[in-house]
Amino acid sequence: TGKFFVGGNWKCNGTKDSIKQLVSDLNSATLEADVDVVVGPPFVYIDQVKNTLSDRIEIAAQNSWIGKGGAFTGEISAEQLKDIGCKWVILGHSERRHVIGEDDQFIGKKAAYALGQNLGVIACIGELLEEREAGKTFDVCFKQLKAYADAVSSWDNIVIAYEPVWAIGTGKVASPEQAQEVHVAVRDWLAKNVSPEVASKTRIIYGGSVNAGNSADLAKKEDIDGFLVGGASLKGSDFATIINSVT
Ligand code: 13P
Repeated sequence: TGKFFVGGNWKCNGTKDSIKQLVSDLNSATLEADVDVVVGPPFVYIDQVKNTLSDRIEIAAQNSWIGKGGAFTGEISAEQLKDIGCKWVILGHSERRHVIGEDDQFIGKKAAYALGQNLGVIACIGELLEEREAGKTFDVCFKQLKAYADAVSSWDNIVIAYEPVWAIGTGKVASPEQAQEVHVAVRDWLAKNVSPEVASKTRIIYGGSVNAGNSADLAKKEDIDGFLVGGASLKGSDFATIINSVT
């Protein structure tokens, strides 16, 4: 399934000073060579990070506009992200779905547009607690996946992030078995609905309360190809430990 992939989603956190420290910690950390590492600063700090962080780590934005720029107050286009040196964009994060109200189709179109601008897309999916309790986990994830599949023409630059909403920022990490079960289902869905080749090549990473203490057990599971880390990515040493939990 390609290289282990670890992304740090800094969300709406940080100041010039705290980010300077985090970059310095990341620059001096020893990271396993065989892992793709990406960090996602808030838009306004991307340039600072780009200018100070080692090239060993690539940069993701946390969102992008659905199309070409223009009269869209407050938005940032994929072209602009490319221009300042971003390689990736995180799309479909649960906070954008459930706090800001983006829907499946809107997210699918954003993914297609960003891919067209040669950005890699970290395409998030994941169920709410009540959906899991109602036995709808697979239905919800498949519906979100279908919206990506309907919109994009190639999966070459997509990493899927399975992030159960009940695990995000709660300290309630999915068990390795719970995550593995959904990752296998996602891979089967890709095999049936996109192609067996895409299913075997696409990295499926897990996010939701991953930390330096639980990442190694999760990483042992066959279909967990990396992580998308929130809170623990704000501490350089913890993030390095998670990166180095590759097996
Ligand atoms: P936490 O690691 O803080 O739970 O956040 C996960 C996440 O949403 C990453 O995108």
